Amino acid sequence: MVNIDLSPVGYVLSPVEEPGDMPLGGRDAVIELMPEYAEALQGLEESSNIWILSWFHKAPRDVLKVKPGKVNPDLPEYGVFALRAYARPNPIGLSLVKLEGVDGNRVYVLGLDAVGGTPVLDIKPYFENDTIFSPLTPYVRGKSREMRRGMIRKHALVHHGEECPDMLIGVRMAAIAEDYFGQLNCSDLMVKVQGSPCLADTIQGISRARFANPPRFNYSNMSDRSETIWAKNGRVLTICLKDVFSREDINYLADEDLFYIF
Ligand SMILES: [Zn+2]
Repeated sequence: MVNIDLSPVGYVLSPVEEPGDMPLGGRDAVIELMPEYAEALQGLEESSNIWILSWFHKAPRDVLKVKPGKVNPDLPEYGVFALRAYARPNPIGLSLVKLEGVDGNRVYVLGLDAVGGTPVLDIKPYFENDTIFSPLTPYVRGKSREMRRGMIRKHALVHHGEECPDMLIGVRMAAIAEDYFGQLNCSDLMVKVQGSPCLADTIQGISRARFANPPRFNYSNMSDRSETIWAKNGRVLTICLKDVFSREDINYLADEDLFYIF
C-alpha cells in the first residue's frame, strides 16, 4: 500500500463551527495559509473561482451510505461516493468558491462549505474546461417547495449573474415546471421560451437545455410576452405571465395570480 504523507497548508476561519450549522451552498470565509506557503498564492487573483480541497476533520470515516439529509431526509440512501456528504473513508472536502481577494497569506472566498478550523490541503484554479453545460446529476429533490425554489434561484443566479425581474420570473416558472415534471436538467425535457433574453438565459441555465446535441431549447425574442412551454413524453405545460408585475409581486404572489398555467 502507498503511504500518503499530507499536512495542511492552512486553516479555514469561519464563524460556523459545526458541520450541521453550515448552510447549503456554504458561506463566506477566510483561508489562512501558513506563512511559508504565501508565495504559492502568486497569480491566484487572475481567477474568479477556485477549488478548495480540505480535510473534514469532524467527519465519521466508517460510513459508506448516507441520505442527503440537509436537502431531503425522505430520499433513498446513496453511496458516499455518489454524493458529497462529508462522511466518507477519506473525508476530503471539495468546494468550488468565488475568490474575493488575496491579502498576504489570507485568501477571502464566498461559498465555502467547511467549518472554522478545517485543515486546508490544497487550492487550485477553476479552468474554463472544468465547465460541463449539461451534466447528468443525481436528482436530490428539495423536501419543500420553498427549498426547491431556493435551489433553483441559486442555480439561476450562478448562470445569469444578476437578479433582474425576468430572472425572478424564470425562477418562479421553473419551480412550477419542476413540480410537474421533476428534474429539469433531463435529456428528454424540451423547453421553449418566448420573451426577453434575460428570461431565456435564466431558463436555459436552470434547465441546461441546449439548442443542439440534443436540441432541447427553442427561443423567440419577444418584448411583449413572457412565456415558457415545457414538454416531455407527450405532456405539455405552458406558463404565461399575466401582466407586468413589481419585483415584490414576482416574489410573493401565488402562482395563479402571476401566471396562466395550462
Ligand atoms: Zn437579466
